[in-house]
Amino acid sequence: MAGIEAKDVSKRFGDVQALKGVSLAVAPGEFVSLVGPSGCGKTTLMRSIAGLETPDSGTIAIGGEDVGGLRAADRDVAMVFQSYALYPHLTARQNMAVPLVMRRLDAWRRLPLIGDLLPGTRAAKAEIAAEVARTAELLGIEKLLERKPGQLSGGQRQRVALGRAIVRHPRVFLLDEPLSNLDAGLRVQTRKEIVELHRRVGASTVYVTHDQTEAMTMSDRVAVMMAGEILQIGSPRDVYLDPRDLRVAAFVGSPKINAFAAEAGADGLVRVAGTPTGVAVAIQGALTFAARPEDIAPNAHDGIPARVEHVEFLGEAVLLHARVAGATEAVVARMDARRAGTFERGQSIRLRPDPARALLFDAAGKRIVARAVPLGLKEIALG
Ligand code: ATP
Repeated sequence: MAGIEAKDVSKRFGDVQALKGVSLAVAPGEFVSLVGPSGCGKTTLMRSIAGLETPDSGTIAIGGEDVGGLRAADRDVAMVFQSYALYPHLTARQNMAVPLVMRRLDAWRRLPLIGDLLPGTRAAKAEIAAEVARTAELLGIEKLLERKPGQLSGGQRQRVALGRAIVRHPRVFLLDEPLSNLDAGLRVQTRKEIVELHRRVGASTVYVTHDQTEAMTMSDRVAVMMAGEILQIGSPRDVYLDPRDLRVAAFVGSPKINAFAAEAGADGLVRVAGTPTGVAVAIQGALTFAARPEDIAPNAHDGIPARVEHVEFLGEAVLLHARVAGATEAVVARMDARRAGTFERGQSIRLRPDPARALLFDAAGKRIVARAVPLGLKEIALG
């Protein structure tokens, strides 16, 4: 099995610096997702690994070998795109066979009648047919093999495209938004299938998506990209619970993390809208206090004053949307539906973030160490 290592890769298109010295190491057999908003450079990084884009600087190695001098076709990489790019006039079986035919049969042997008369053609074709049949079985598409793409649903076409990618056992898989053309239900099902397929095939995989749920549910590690840089790479748990940058915290998680403009006084105590939060930091001045929706709740006695805007009942949970004076975005609190009280639109409430789970970021958006302190305590010696 082969790993992938991109080091200091930069790429500029005219005025746009698409990649700013990106480094990414994918271990053999690992599944890594690249997530980030549109235009952050995900596809450019992927295409650079595939050999479809030439970086301005930096190196790319596959299986420990620098592939900078290799054409895309020689890198032993399979790519699956959002658009399935299947040949419309070929059946699913023929589509899946294309990479093997191109690789194992020379131009003469590919000729319709004469080709079969040349030595070795029949044996090679039989091997290809067997390989296609094995792959189709793996993907559960044996019954669809005689159909052309126009006679297949979106999900079925995507499976054929995956089949075409894995049929030749590539060292590396690159999947670029492969599910984005599918409807929501099919997306959930197909994402599970891709994970199972990855387990069985075991090739290092880079998966590009702008959908953070997809990335979180499928990957060993998630790389969060923004403006041509990887801000953080870690397990789904790490990027969610331990984000190093406010942009990572805000991108990962749905509903979005609540971010409040806050102030740390000379005593280090952090206040939001003048209300003590029960958190202390070692710096002074303006910062951002952030709490995930499940880490903030209405509280009868204290907390940040807010007004209820909207209540969403999700079944197991209730999402309470409220507005804090001066804030541009609504605060969202996620509560267990069985324990949540009832709220009226316009009602004045107080929202209390759990100080032990709050995430604090300095003025530059970098995470800072915070610790919970008893509320109301004025004098804190910060160690
Ligand atoms: P999306 O999620 O929308 O696909 P992305 O994160 O994959 O976005 P890229 O496609 O890598 O982003 O693009 C990064 C930046 O480089 C964007 O600003 C894009 O407009 C620019 N870019 C990409 N390819 C080219 C090109 N061939 N010519 C000019 N600019 C390009």
